[in-house]
Amino acid sequence: MSPIQSISSGTSFKPNSSTATTKSSIIPIPPLLGASVTELTTWVQQQGQPAYRGRQLHGWIYQQGARCLGEISVFPKKWREALEDVPIGRSNLDYRLEAPDGTVKYLLQLADGQIIETVGIPTAKRLTVCVSSQVGCPMACDFCATGKGGFTRNLARHEIVDQVLTVQEDFGQRVSNVVFMGMGEPLLNLDTVVAAVKSINQDVGIGMRSQTISTVGIPQRIRELAQYQLQATFAVSLHASNQQLREQLIPSAKHYSLEALLEDCREYVNLTGRRVSFEYILLAELNDLPEHAAELAEHLRGFQSHVNLIPYNPINEVDYQRPTSSRIQDFVDVLEKQHIAVSVRRSRGLEKDAACGQLRASNNTPIS
Ligand code: SF4
Repeated sequence: MSPIQSISSGTSFKPNSSTATTKSSIIPIPPLLGASVTELTTWVQQQGQPAYRGRQLHGWIYQQGARCLGEISVFPKKWREALEDVPIGRSNLDYRLEAPDGTVKYLLQLADGQIIETVGIPTAKRLTVCVSSQVGCPMACDFCATGKGGFTRNLARHEIVDQVLTVQEDFGQRVSNVVFMGMGEPLLNLDTVVAAVKSINQDVGIGMRSQTISTVGIPQRIRELAQYQLQATFAVSLHASNQQLREQLIPSAKHYSLEALLEDCREYVNLTGRRVSFEYILLAELNDLPEHAAELAEHLRGFQSHVNLIPYNPINEVDYQRPTSSRIQDFVDVLEKQHIAVSVRRSRGLEKDAACGQLRASNNTPIS
C-alpha cells in the first residue's frame, strides 16, 4: 500500500489537531519517499501539525536527502522523537564500482535485505540514471546476466525513486535523465513504475520527457501504458529482425509475435502521438548481418520511430560476442539508406561489468 492510500483512505489516519503526536500513537505506515507534497501535507495535518510542515518534510526528503525523520531539525524535538520509527524508505549502499569513464555502478540493499543494481552515467552535459524496476527479472533473456539470475519481486515506488536520489547525492549534481533499463521488466510492474515516473518528475524535479520506460514487450501492457498518456519516452527492445531470432533471444517472445508487438507499438503511436524508440542489441554473427538490417528496415518502414543500436557487452554466463566496428557501421548504413532514424549507443564502463545485472552477478549476490 502506498502512503497516498493510507493517507487518503481516512481509515488508517484520523486527523488530530488538538494533541501532539506521541511515539505510541504513530500507526505503522509505508515509506514516505515517493509521496507528493500534497500527500505529505495531509499526513502531517493528520498528526496535528500545521500544513507548512508538509512542504518542509517534502524539502527534507527530496532536496536535503533526509534518511530518517529524526534528523529533520526544523521539526519540534518531541514530534521528531515520536517520528523516529516512521520509514522514509532510503536504501543502503552495499557496493560501489567506478569505471575509468566515470560510470558508477551501485548495489543497493533494500529494507528486506534484497540487492538491486543502479548505474549512474555521466557525460559532459548529462547525468543519466539507469534504474531497476524489479529484484531480478522473470523474462530470462538469453544474453542478460539479470535474466540468468531469476526473479524475486517487484520494486515499490519508493525503492525506484531512491535509486535516483542515491545517484544524485553520490555525484553531487542534478540527475538529468532516468532510463528504466536496469534489472527487471518495467511493464510487469506498470502501475508502480508510472507512479515512480510521476514522483521523479514532480518531487525530484526531472522532466517527464527526460525519462525512458523500456520493455521487451508484454501483451496488453503497451496499450495500458498508452492510456496513461505520459510524456516519457517509450523504448521497445526488439533485438531481432524476425520472430525466430527473437524467440531465441527472448523466451517470452513465443507468446507475443513480432507482428503483434509492432501492431501494439503502432497503436501506441496512434494513442499518444509519440514516437517509439526501438532498442536493438547487436550480437556478432547472430543478428548483426546486413540482411538483418534490411529485414528490420522493412518492419519499420513508415513507422514514427528511432532505432538505437547497442553493441553487446560480453558477459561470462554466455558466449555472445560484440560485433566489429565495421560490422556495426554496415548495419547503420543499411538502415540509413532505408531512411530509418538510427543511432549507436556508446559503450560505458565496458571494463567494469557494465551489462545489465552483471555487477550483481559478479559480486555473487544471491537473488533471494
Ligand atoms: S534484458 Fe531486461 S527484460 Fe531481459 S532478462 Fe534482462 S532485465 Fe529482464
